[in-house]
Amino acid sequence: MPEGDTIHRAARTLHRALAGRAVTRFESVFPALTRVDVDHPVRGRIIERVEARGKHLLMWLSGLSAVASAKAEPLVLRTHMRMSGSWHIYRPHERWQRSRDDMRIIIETDELHAVAFNVPVAELTTAKALERTQAIRNLGPDPLSADFRVDDAVRGIRSRNGMDIADALLDQSAIAGIGNVYKSEILFAGRINPFAKVDVLPPTDLERLVAIAVKFMRANTAEGAAAAIETYRGLRRTTGRHDPGARLWVYGRAGKPCRRCGTAISRAKQGAHARSTYWCPRCQDRRCDRFKAASRPDRDRD
Ligand SMILES: [Zn+2]
Repeated sequence: MPEGDTIHRAARTLHRALAGRAVTRFESVFPALTRVDVDHPVRGRIIERVEARGKHLLMWLSGLSAVASAKAEPLVLRTHMRMSGSWHIYRPHERWQRSRDDMRIIIETDELHAVAFNVPVAELTTAKALERTQAIRNLGPDPLSADFRVDDAVRGIRSRNGMDIADALLDQSAIAGIGNVYKSEILFAGRINPFAKVDVLPPTDLERLVAIAVKFMRANTAEGAAAAIETYRGLRRTTGRHDPGARLWVYGRAGKPCRRCGTAISRAKQGAHARSTYWCPRCQDRRCDRFKAASRPDRDRD
């Protein structure tokens, strides 16, 4: 499940592979993209940079230079992976690791081809129009961006008072890039009950949670974490351990013993989208009494 760190890794891998190169071929199964491509061809443009904002991946394409309309506006390709999307990079003639049926976008350069599989959200637009896109305009501070400030994120989360802290961490307009895995992991590391309302948590708790978010996400985008070919899959770690069975504290571990105290990890569906939350009822119990009514353990699979 791609979260902000995965998208940042993918953006970095794509940037290294493609930046500065000219697009030699563009193809998409999305009519909205091919319509833009007909009027403002992608072919011939230079891929200037690839970056992540929150969980959005942005590929900036230069105005056309080789064509008469030298003043054509630069374009940006925005993709969002949701649960299942991924970008792969291949050499020409290399065999794809996914079915052609899953292909949504192909961007070819002379040396490498970038292929987007199963991305559910894709938009080809101008820079100005991108900034007007609600999903981009409303993005909160991104722990993986260079200008991130803890205070901004704390303010964003605090403004979600009335929400459970777990839901506030998922709110992309409060803090960008945190997904369902990190949500549970951050709260465990911060020893905060996921059902605590934002307004009952002191600022020091929120600061601690944001600091943990920054630490986890930056550790998982460190150099060396990027895969050479597949840009999506990455073994996310929060425990600092490499053993695949010991990478996470609580996520996906319902019923298993807490790595700190041995108590069975709980799981419940939480929030408007019924996302699974995992927590240790003992380690994250300190302020739990008034939230217990809200947490209904639930034995379905996620
Ligand atoms: Zn515990």
